Amino acid sequence: MLQCQRCLEDVAVGVRSHSRFRLVPAGEEWGDQDLDDDSYEALELEGLLDVRTLIEDEVLLSLPAIALHEQCSPPGAGADADVAKPSPFAELGRLKQGK
Ligand SMILES: [Zn+2]
Repeated sequence: MLQCQRCLEDVAVGVRSHSRFRLVPAGEEWGDQDLDDDSYEALELEGLLDVRTLIEDEVLLSLPAIALHEQCSPPGAGADADVAKPSPFAELGRLKQGK
């Protein structure tokens, strides 16, 4: 769940991520192909792999910078708000003045 940047309500965001890792035990030489091959990421491993943290990092990297519902309205944009809707430029001027 993220916050929709338009209506500020919760929005469910699906994440699909495919990642390949090559685990390199700490202290072991990294082959040159580990640095050249972009099809996987080489990870130095000290002790056990923390899969939970690894997945969390991958999910965070996969999240969109801005979450929006496909269709929603800004807060307060009901039927009567449409009548007195300020022009976008007036709104921008207001924001610029910091009011
Ligand atoms: Zn929304």
